[in-house]
Amino acid sequence: MDLRDKRLVASLAKAIAEVCKGLAHLKIMHVCGTHEYVISRFGLRHLLPDNLEVISGPGCPVCCTPASDIDTLVNLSLRKNVVVTCFGDMLRVNGSQMSLAEAKARGANTKIVYSILDAVEFAREHEDLEVIHSAIGFETTAPTTAAVLTNSLPGNFSILSSHRIIPPAMDFILSQSDTCIDGFIAPGHVSVIIGANAYKSVAKIYKRPVVVSGFEPADILYSIYLITRQIKKKQAKVENEYSRAVDWQPQKKAIAMIKRTFDVTDSFWRGLGKIRQSGLILRKPLRRFDCFYKFKLKKAKEEIVGFRHCRCADVLKGKIHPDECPAFGHACNPEHPLGPCMVSYEGSCAIFYSYRNNKKLKVRAKGVKAHDSKLGG
Ligand code: SF4
Repeated sequence: MDLRDKRLVASLAKAIAEVCKGLAHLKIMHVCGTHEYVISRFGLRHLLPDNLEVISGPGCPVCCTPASDIDTLVNLSLRKNVVVTCFGDMLRVNGSQMSLAEAKARGANTKIVYSILDAVEFAREHEDLEVIHSAIGFETTAPTTAAVLTNSLPGNFSILSSHRIIPPAMDFILSQSDTCIDGFIAPGHVSVIIGANAYKSVAKIYKRPVVVSGFEPADILYSIYLITRQIKKKQAKVENEYSRAVDWQPQKKAIAMIKRTFDVTDSFWRGLGKIRQSGLILRKPLRRFDCFYKFKLKKAKEEIVGFRHCRCADVLKGKIHPDECPAFGHACNPEHPLGPCMVSYEGSCAIFYSYRNNKKLKVRAKGVKAHDSKLGG
């Protein structure tokens, strides 16, 4: 089946509109940068009925990294004989004072790497330097960090773990009295690791439908259809639309690797504050590779606020769409990002900016490239 087929997509949109007839205004949240990318790139929002809103939540690991982690990395990078390694987008994320890129302009030592393995290799080649790697990502990337850390490592290597896990963040969003989310599109990649059962408590406690979704336009629309159908039937259960990749059970090996390496701890998320049992720190036997332990650093007790005009907190909580931020496209754009959501390619503001002129659905009629076709156009 072609999951970008114009007729399939149109029929799913029609089915959603049919289910939503007579329902109050609904707000469905996704927590995945790739879902936002597909929704924006293919113009899926333009297909939804007026009483149905799909909003992005905390689905980009770079965006969720608190300013305090960036501040710690900046301070370390300004030390003598220390190099901070990170992925390219992390370099441009503002802390409370500056980004790593600005620190670099002031003489700090930073190096962009494409994987944690590159960082380890760099440490091996530079025994005279302390190499600290910024390890970020959700359950999808934590196993890679874990795999590297359980191998033999050079003594001059350590990490700052900004790894976080998704279900507690969904739980947190639903527990807030000022956020009104009627259902969740659960992230496909993360679910491959943790399994669809991981969302059962969220669905049960908060009585909200959760549907694990794939990444093609028809996947996402069908997931939205399943959520709205549950709402109409007053149901709140977990469904797995992405069964071709996601099992109900977790990936045992990956989860075992995470558990061998990390303890779960309370953790700050940018804009959301401290979320119970939502972060991963290195377990005691591996603490010599934790930069906080190694350099005797103090962890932030409160979340440090980033740039004050940035409304990333409201974007990550699903209170506003990125283009409702007054700075969007003016003071803040990909060239001059004020907040992390405009930095990362998985950030909602950056994605909204890239597709800001995309007013029509772009899907494939059979035999036509996706970007050549406009439904209704
Ligand atoms: Fe922050 Fe820029 Fe997004 Fe506004 S548009 S919320 S300033 S990242």
